[in-house]
Amino acid sequence: MSSAPLFLNRDNTQRGSLGRTVLSRRAVLFGAAGIGAASVAGLSALNLPTAAANDLRIYSTEEWGANAPNGDIAINRLNYRPSKIVVHHMDSPNVTDYSQEAAFKIARDCQSWHVNNGWADSGQQFSVSRGGYVLEGRHGSLAAAQDGSYFIEGIQAAGCNRETIGIENEGRYEGELPTDAQWAALVQLIAYLCRQYGLDSSAIIGHRDCSSTACPGSAFYGALGQLRADVDAALAGGGGAPTPPPEPEQPEDPGMSWPVTKRGDSGNAVLAVQRLLQHHGWQLEADTSFGPATEQAIFEFQSANGLGVDGAVGQETWPALIVVVRQGDSGSAVIGLQELLNKHGARLEVDGVFGSATDQAVREFQELQHFDADAIAGPITWKGLVTV
Ligand SMILES: [Zn+2]
Repeated sequence: MSSAPLFLNRDNTQRGSLGRTVLSRRAVLFGAAGIGAASVAGLSALNLPTAAANDLRIYSTEEWGANAPNGDIAINRLNYRPSKIVVHHMDSPNVTDYSQEAAFKIARDCQSWHVNNGWADSGQQFSVSRGGYVLEGRHGSLAAAQDGSYFIEGIQAAGCNRETIGIENEGRYEGELPTDAQWAALVQLIAYLCRQYGLDSSAIIGHRDCSSTACPGSAFYGALGQLRADVDAALAGGGGAPTPPPEPEQPEDPGMSWPVTKRGDSGNAVLAVQRLLQHHGWQLEADTSFGPATEQAIFEFQSANGLGVDGAVGQETWPALIVVVRQGDSGSAVIGLQELLNKHGARLEVDGVFGSATDQAVREFQELQHFDADAIAGPITWKGLVTV
């Protein structure tokens, strides 16, 4: 974990079951004050939901253990807002395991089914489990929603993919409705997406409105009017809270650009690229030489993050790649930081642990470069280390 968790908790209550201590940098969490339980009667007597109905917490692909997308297939970033939100059912069994573990498993299973279809990644942008867990689907979809100006093109509603984002709901809803927990989470997710993309509840459609399919099942499809009403109520009551504040970062220095780093290059910038890729989960050697393996990893990283996919690390990819590290952090990004500081004259033991010696070395480098000497390695410091 490279930095403080990013979340906005509107009601300040602590619900330990949500595991806030493991929130990732990309997680979204907010309470929805004033929103009651689902108004459509599900099978409430049988439900033992484990996710709190009044919170929206979106688990990123990283958190539920997604595989990297198939880098051979392009994933398109569409630089405009979606106009509709498509509701699906997975047509999967109506299981009664409402745990987070089950939610993460269905997300992984769904990704596997879709990749086995020959797709690059999960087809849908988001999923909701029967236990009410909300999960990012296609890589980059959560960052896109947080931004609110673009989305990642999915494969979820033939004929509508370039105008819509899709939500897969675990279960089969031909003759019954989602669980209360699932319904409440879906309402909060849609309210959030409406806020982020400037939509209202009239944007909600069923998959069968786009394509020739029974999805999302007749019972669920028949309840879309109720879903729109519940989303309206959530929006009116403050649900779908605005995007959390961005992670604190040092301001960008417009006078200095990132060095474009690409295949055939070697040196400090390449070392940084490789260590940062390791931090983000790619397994490659940090040999300071930008060869085919590094290029392939960059293709995958760019695809996964909705960036232009060209295999070169430039003005767009560097900011997505760097990790803000400070005292107390550890891992591959810190190893890279220590190696780069040593190349700039420090004599650190490269142990991947950001302790007081690394803190002091960062501060000295920042002072030397006339940067703000706060001992936090953010964009300006990384840029200095790979440029100077
Ligand atoms: Zn569908």
